[in-house]
Amino acid sequence: VQGYAGQTVAVLGLGRSGRATAAALQAGGAHPVVWDDSAVARDAAEQAGFDLRDLTKPRAFEGVSLLVVSPGIPHLYPTPNPVIAAAWDADVPVDNDIGLFFRSFATAEWEEFDTMPRVIAVTGSNGKSTTSALIHHILVENGRPAQLAGNIGRGVLDIEPAHDGEVVVLELSSYQTDLARSLTPDVAVFTNLSPDHLDRHGGPGGYFAAKRRLFAEGGPDRAIIGVDEVEGRYMANQLSEGPGDDRVIRISSGQKLTGEGWNVFARKGFLAEHRKGRQVGSIDLRAIAGLPGAHNHQNACAAYAACRTLGLGPKGIEAAMQSYPGLPHRSQVVAVKDGVTFVNDSKATNVDSAAKALAAFPKIRWICGGLQKEGGLDGLLPYLDHVSKAYVIGREAEGFARQLTGADVEVCGTMATAVAQAAADAAAGEVVLLAPAAASFDQYDSFERRGEDFIRCVTEAVG
Ligand code: ADP
Repeated sequence: VQGYAGQTVAVLGLGRSGRATAAALQAGGAHPVVWDDSAVARDAAEQAGFDLRDLTKPRAFEGVSLLVVSPGIPHLYPTPNPVIAAAWDADVPVDNDIGLFFRSFATAEWEEFDTMPRVIAVTGSNGKSTTSALIHHILVENGRPAQLAGNIGRGVLDIEPAHDGEVVVLELSSYQTDLARSLTPDVAVFTNLSPDHLDRHGGPGGYFAAKRRLFAEGGPDRAIIGVDEVEGRYMANQLSEGPGDDRVIRISSGQKLTGEGWNVFARKGFLAEHRKGRQVGSIDLRAIAGLPGAHNHQNACAAYAACRTLGLGPKGIEAAMQSYPGLPHRSQVVAVKDGVTFVNDSKATNVDSAAKALAAFPKIRWICGGLQKEGGLDGLLPYLDHVSKAYVIGREAEGFARQLTGADVEVCGTMATAVAQAAADAAAGEVVLLAPAAASFDQYDSFERRGEDFIRCVTEAVG
């Protein structure tokens, strides 16, 4: 990180991103002073050679030029963080690793490069990881050097310096866009919006505002925006100079987009690209095994559009999509036995993503439950006709089960019971689907551990 040589920079939060931030500041000649609420994290940082400073003490910010905060730490809601509030009171700027990355990237000297490196940033409520990984895969398969970082892959301050003509694909969550002081991608993607993480952002308005920051005035050269919700339509309209403006590319899964501008949409398994009302590209998405379901077709549209802005042709994009391997824990087929398919969608941690998973398969033995998020489960009710039976897990399984009115429901509690029961009940042609519609923290450390447990139980149940 450039720009802070000889200055003292405070770093709050010493997880992976905090440690990478401190190291990057040091490499740029700054003096990082670090702090974390956890004594274990502080000890590890001290052993790694960083100077601790207790940022909770009065006057901790004297002589400090900047405070860099880890994305996991809420700053304003549900209650203001006292360390961050102290920096505000001392008029010390507050940033995060994403802001530092963009600032360094924007001020880097690229003179010796033939082709400027570019940054594509992907945000939205669901589909960020899939879209980012898919863009990265398509670029690499087409011979364009690319790195994947941010919320997926490596921390932004951990990646290699960009090469000539390289594309950095960044997945950015609202936890990262909210505090970053610089957000200047060349291409920004907004997949969709549904309620999530509302506590942290003080409600839906704050959550949308955090995501919108990526598209601020003077922002990206190209904005790729999912218009299946009204918030996306509003944003696309605000960014556009009027009909035919191709700075904005609208994407949809399900609707035919008829405007005069640049549109990419998926309908009935086909992707179509229209410019000025004429079709200029199309892909048969039904032939793409790694992207099942209408929700993945939305991700395909977003990735297609992003790659088109970099000059790739429809044929090259289509060929690369065909070899996309998918990500673990997202619509991941883990076994097929006697005509029953077992799908791990542990990443479906909110109602909208689980509803999309339910919509993707016609006959489902559905494993769900966990730590429920705000907003209730009503968004799932329209899809219960795809569900032969729900097998509910989690500490609050009974309360969860009661909200699934109209479904055949069994309270199972643990993953092992749920998988064994669902596997025993399933008939050929059915899908045993883990799509919890809830966070995992009541029973697991992370959605990854939950998905791994599902896989283990499936292996035990079907061999
Ligand atoms: P994110 O990184 O935004 O959480 P992922 O690609 O990891 O997105 O997918 C998260 C969950 O949402 C998975 O359960 C996946 O099946 C589902 N999903 C993926 N893409 C979409 C989409 N475009 N709309 C709704 N749900 C989606």
